[in-house]
Amino acid sequence: MASLRDALGPVVGAKAAKRLAAALGVRTVGELLRHYPRRYENRGELTDLASLRDGEDVTVQAEIASVTVRKMRNRPGTVLEAVVTDGRGRLALTFFGRGSQHWREEVLKPGVRGLFAGQVSTFQGKRQLSHPEYELLGPGEAVIRAADYAAEIIPVYPAVKGITSWQIADSVRLALDLLDVDDDLLPRAVRDRYQLSGLADALRGIHRPADRRDADRAKERLKWDEAFILQVILAQRRRAAYAFSATPRARQPAGLLAGFDARLPFELTVGQQLAGATIADELARDHPMHRLLQGEVGSGKTVIAVRAMLQVVDGGGQAALLAPTEVLAQQHYRSISAQLGPLAQAGQLGGAEQATRLALLTGSLGAAARRKALLDAASGSAGIVIGTHALLEENVQFADLGLVVIDEQHRFGVEQRDALREKAGEGRPHVLVMTATPIPRTVAMTVFGDLEVSTLTELPAGREAISTHVVPAAERPRYLERTWERVTEEAAKGRQIYVVCPRIGDDSPAADGAADQGAAGRSRAGGGAANVGGAAADDVSGLLADDLGGAADDEAKRPPVAVLDLAAELGGGPLAGVRLAVLHGRLPPEEKDQVMLAFAAGSVDVLVTTTVVEVGVDVPNATTMVIMDADRFGVSQLHQLRGRVGRGSHEGLCLLVTEAEAGGPSRQRLDAVAATLDGFKLSRLDLEQRREGDVLGAAQAGRKSSLKLLTLLADEKLIGHARREATDLVDADPALSGQPALAAAVAALLELQQAEYLEKA
Ligand code: ADP
Ligand code: MG
Repeated sequence: MASLRDALGPVVGAKAAKRLAAALGVRTVGELLRHYPRRYENRGELTDLASLRDGEDVTVQAEIASVTVRKMRNRPGTVLEAVVTDGRGRLALTFFGRGSQHWREEVLKPGVRGLFAGQVSTFQGKRQLSHPEYELLGPGEAVIRAADYAAEIIPVYPAVKGITSWQIADSVRLALDLLDVDDDLLPRAVRDRYQLSGLADALRGIHRPADRRDADRAKERLKWDEAFILQVILAQRRRAAYAFSATPRARQPAGLLAGFDARLPFELTVGQQLAGATIADELARDHPMHRLLQGEVGSGKTVIAVRAMLQVVDGGGQAALLAPTEVLAQQHYRSISAQLGPLAQAGQLGGAEQATRLALLTGSLGAAARRKALLDAASGSAGIVIGTHALLEENVQFADLGLVVIDEQHRFGVEQRDALREKAGEGRPHVLVMTATPIPRTVAMTVFGDLEVSTLTELPAGREAISTHVVPAAERPRYLERTWERVTEEAAKGRQIYVVCPRIGDDSPAADGAADQGAAGRSRAGGGAANVGGAAADDVSGLLADDLGGAADDEAKRPPVAVLDLAAELGGGPLAGVRLAVLHGRLPPEEKDQVMLAFAAGSVDVLVTTTVVEVGVDVPNATTMVIMDADRFGVSQLHQLRGRVGRGSHEGLCLLVTEAEAGGPSRQRLDAVAATLDGFKLSRLDLEQRREGDVLGAAQAGRKSSLKLLTLLADEKLIGHARREATDLVDADPALSGQPALAAAVAALLELQQAEYLEKA
């Protein structure tokens, strides 16, 4: 008998154990059995050879059609070529040998069927596998494996170097034969309620199903494992957070918030009022609020945050606002100062009586300004402290931190959230997280599962729509000319225009962002390899690893359009006479700030920029955005970007310039973006097109390796059920003392997350 915790050696043999460890990194029976087949082959049903693609590692089931052996021309030895067929297509298997290869000829005989595994390549116009591994299934002189399989379905494991699918299957079979599961991690009651198989049955069912239904049933149960462990962790986290106390900050009838509301130049939308009321209530409780506020670009999240911060200041506390970039922190500082007016001018002439102060803390502050900001935060004289991740540094202290607001959450991980939270001393601050990347419900339940969610679904009234068009620059050069004419016209009307490029273009190494992108830079690391042209690591900081989608199909024919090149070209040509400025992450922070100010003030017409403007930048007079090589960006990122225009009373226009082929996958993505303004729809599309691990991995360490079967979009119902069950269980038994197997699985996943996090850091 073997338990899931047992080492593999005694179960599958030392040699196989060694190979499994080297190729798959699995060391225990449990780890091996959690390495699931990728698909199944029906015995006797041949693989469609036409579907094979060059470079792919495949395992195919096929029948040998013919075998020829010939002498090599330039060297001693022979080439044996076996041609296999699925009845229609053909595939050559080539074997090189020093000698005659008679022994192989004996085995590979026409009519024999088998599994053949290798990498697909093309040689002299013919598809082939060079030196494939093989395993013969049919009747013949060779070892007949068919008897080994009780079932009619053959599991095919993901192809990995150093081990074949059937070698894995062999070891799995040995492990399953000896398997004795005494401790199922899914509680009995849950299994009964949802009619799920026991763990041992499920593991047998997924590896050696009797039929497809058997495999599906097993899969359902094993998905539960993934969802349930995750939800238990999140439930524990929610519970732990709730166990802390927080200082209640109830609304005051007269105070800064009341003063602010009286100054507001617009009516709050119904959504803003509802979310605001929920937040106001939660701030008044003696447990910390943990709320995610999501809403379309331009839906007016900031004003909700400001109102929450003022309620806390009215209650005697301080609030910190964490922004992902220096540009955004500065913009918040400026616009919130302006909105508050005298309410933020404590100690100044003209300051209101109950006024507070704002402090700005970023990595680029001079020593004196920094000292002053630190002092204002520590003494409590600044009620609101706005900053980049510089706020997270250890020497930043608060007199009484009551509320942490995190803007554009997807750029920060849980760790950053925690770092800031810990600055509150004894109690815990309330936390409000804001994101403009709409998150499908299931992602919210997993990635952000320890937060409650509020959603703004409407835009403030009077907002003009944004129309989006694809500009096929390769097929229609005239359209590109027309684009620049349009830009000139807008500028002549006194409007502002963004021109966004994927790259900066000075080709120095992409070492940008030491100052204000550290936090984001980390989550980038994972997607870096697929990044657009290296230098673009600039500002394209890991929006849910968004640019992966964009970069997937580029063959680097030419480097993507660069800010510096394009600005020079436009200034000397189509946009001569228009006031141009350049913005990118590698400019010194003061310069970035000046450029943004000039653009906001209207003394610059056209801003040629990288995606530094992607998040949150608010220039209501900007009407037009041209995105160059738009196919290099991900769907959600494009949606974010175009949210920078149409924020005022003029209609917004977004032009997606691309050379991607009409009808191809890149063009389809762009067409989808042009066709809808519904960010939720687009974020689903985005998720469908990317591996889930990227989505999860960018936001939180560890999730990547823990989700093998679960798909966030398709398994919404299951995730919802698992969440409810997990919450109930953790409420009843917080330490999981009645569920040792579950407790062990949770501990193992947490350890893995920790390890991955450390690795990244
Ligand atoms: P986001 O949700 O993308 O962060 P912002 O908070 O930046 O959006 O708001 C976008 C713009 O809309 C800002 O200029 C803001 O002042 C304005 N705004 C916010 N709420 C309203 C409202 N209820 N009516 C009109 N304008 C509003
Ligand atoms: Mg915003």
